[in-house]
Amino acid sequence: MSELATRVRDTLATLERVAEEFSPAVFASSLAAEDMVLTDLILKAGLPIGIFSLETGRLHKETLGMVERVQERYGYEIALYRPVQAAVDAYVEKKGINAFYDSVELRKECCQIRKVEPLGRALNGKKAWVTGQRRAQSATRSDLSVQEYDGSHSMEKFNPLADWSEQEVWDYIRANDVPYNPLHDQGYPSIGCEPCTRAIQPGEDVRAGRWWWENPDSKECGLHLVDGKLIRIKKAS
Ligand code: SF4
Repeated sequence: MSELATRVRDTLATLERVAEEFSPAVFASSLAAEDMVLTDLILKAGLPIGIFSLETGRLHKETLGMVERVQERYGYEIALYRPVQAAVDAYVEKKGINAFYDSVELRKECCQIRKVEPLGRALNGKKAWVTGQRRAQSATRSDLSVQEYDGSHSMEKFNPLADWSEQEVWDYIRANDVPYNPLHDQGYPSIGCEPCTRAIQPGEDVRAGRWWWENPDSKECGLHLVDGKLIRIKKAS
């Protein structure tokens, strides 16, 4: 069995375990390449894991277009969670629409309104959530486990692609003709909100284009943090 086939087998086994032991479980898709691998695996296997995405109001049109492409390809409608409009309006009015460039605090406040709060709603009542994070993506993810306890949401969190390399992600996408965000072909290995993501040069860290004006150790949006710190409570998987 090839290394990729072994990875796929192990990842499917993890997803099946999530579906069996942690129902109801959901998959938080950012519609990036890794998330499309998981989407393909979940939907082809018919696993009862709901897929949602955070529609922050600041996404690239190419990213939003992936929702339609998933619908066309798999006949599946990804659930979209949006921020509370009154909170967005208050932030924009008091601080400015692009105030996140001014300080880490203002950036985190914007992420709190547009991502963290909607994520909390999406996870409400669930027993586990799944992400497409990989260990090799950045310094802040170097100790990522396939399974961990998410203390901030009081539930299990699964990162089934934690061990995958970027090459394996693309090998899977090409071998299975999985639809992917066209921005990946334009120098965007990691894609977030449009004003907070830039293309990178060959050889740069894959997450160098995210919040590039900040220090590397503060480059998380709060979705995978516990009390503001990366805390991993590892459990045997
Ligand atoms: S990534 Fe940027 S635009 Fe998106 S929620 Fe965070 S600060 Fe706001």
